[in-house]
Amino acid sequence: MTVPSTLTSYINGEFVDREHYFDNINPVNGCVVSLISEANHQMIDDAVAAAKNSEWARLSVKERCVLLNKVADVMQAREQEFIDAEIADTGKSLFQVKTIDIPRGTANFRFFADLVQYPANESFITETPQGTKALNYSVNKPLGVVAIISPWNLPLLLATWKIAPAMACGNSVIFKPSEETSSTAFLLAQVMDEVGIPKGAFNLILGRGHAVGDAITSHADIDAITFTGASATGQRIMASAAQTVKPISFELGGKNSAVVFSDVDIDKAVAGVARSTFTNCGQVCLCTEKVYVHRSIFDEFVGKLKQHAAGIKIGYPTDDDVFMGPLVSKAHQTKVLSYYQLARDEGATIEQGGGVPKFGDERDEGCYIEPTVLTGLDDHARINQEEIFGPVCHVSPFDSEAEVIKRVNDTPYGLAASLWTENLSRAHRVAPQIDVGLVWVNTWFLRDLRAPFGGTKLSGVGREGGLHSLAFYTEPSNICINIEE
Ligand code: NAD
Repeated sequence: MTVPSTLTSYINGEFVDREHYFDNINPVNGCVVSLISEANHQMIDDAVAAAKNSEWARLSVKERCVLLNKVADVMQAREQEFIDAEIADTGKSLFQVKTIDIPRGTANFRFFADLVQYPANESFITETPQGTKALNYSVNKPLGVVAIISPWNLPLLLATWKIAPAMACGNSVIFKPSEETSSTAFLLAQVMDEVGIPKGAFNLILGRGHAVGDAITSHADIDAITFTGASATGQRIMASAAQTVKPISFELGGKNSAVVFSDVDIDKAVAGVARSTFTNCGQVCLCTEKVYVHRSIFDEFVGKLKQHAAGIKIGYPTDDDVFMGPLVSKAHQTKVLSYYQLARDEGATIEQGGGVPKFGDERDEGCYIEPTVLTGLDDHARINQEEIFGPVCHVSPFDSEAEVIKRVNDTPYGLAASLWTENLSRAHRVAPQIDVGLVWVNTWFLRDLRAPFGGTKLSGVGREGGLHSLAFYTEPSNICINIEE
């Protein structure tokens, strides 16, 4: 496995090493993978100035799309490097990186390069009662310089989900990846360079949130901010962006429920709920943390879910059949373990897991954690209200449809939910009553890039995906032309 040994920012078409480093740690064994050169405020000013002056917005849509498709071609050609880098940073399983993170990262460029070519502009013929006629039409212009700030859980996938539409629409970008996962961001900068993306169109700023975050989000020449990350960080960014009234798009935290009705095939529902709880060690914003199971099948369901969790293979991310690698970092392992302790303190029954696996080798220095199933708490326990972001769910029984809808909605978050039922009418009746941005029925994490994506309440502001992305990354300017008789 080869990964770059020093990661630097990329500004105005140049890689810039400030020679002020922090360590990038491998969560499998706690060893240093690479050094990350942290940007300073002058570099942010330089990047924003380069973005503002870039010729990118002046290229035709066709020219931009040809270049973005080339970005996808080179990413595909260098796929193994992206796979190795993503695994080294996150410890996530080879299967996931190979089938989801990297191919979907590449697909984002192809999808938005295609999509941006087709939407028509709005136009209207206006006729006033006085007989004046006019043609109104709108021109969708890029916003200018867009700051993109992304998290560590699906690093390349979530970053390109925003970089691709922003650039396809003609914006220049200032991209700040998570300090935990800068390697694929650095490779992407190399790809942009190799493809010949005009200077200043894509700028990469590496650094920790506290060191570079505010300088980006409060910058007067940043025209919009799109952010994926924790709700508390979103609140800070919103306050910072308020100084210059920038448009924002926020994809934030979640506390997602799965509801299992009595009519299901239990084995299928257990497999689905387990996948939605334990995928990527629970480090997907859409993962299930609360499970509501109809009382008539509760004991059988919990028994089978425990069994499933106990059978999950944990190990080296690149070993065959490994479903769970480590969590992303020691800090995150400490946080999730503190919730396992809190569950005990709040009086939960630990049905399965609740600790750290022991390997007897270098992995004991890593950030591994056991998949965990809890029962016995009420809905207002902190375990059932706060986002944990680990491989853990709490399972509760319910008796009626109306009751479970109320309980699912009783959270400050509103990102996603999944319903498990064979009753079609029930699915249609219940799904729209759940106060979230996405409801899955008998599936989970099945995404269509054209569909709106985002959350309600503390889970976000706005929607991206398909035409929603194009709407966010452009500003319509209406032109009204008098038609003289
Ligand atoms: P985080 O908020 O700690 O960090 C996200 C990014 O923000 C990082 O790049 C970080 O460096 C940066 N940042 C931190 N402080 C900043 C500041 N003051 N100004 C500007 N930038 C700052 O989140 P995380 O721990 O990396 O990611 C996990 C969180 O992300 C979870 O809450 C998860 O639910 C959420 N998430 C949401 C979605 C979604 O689509 N809704 C997707 C993935 C992750």
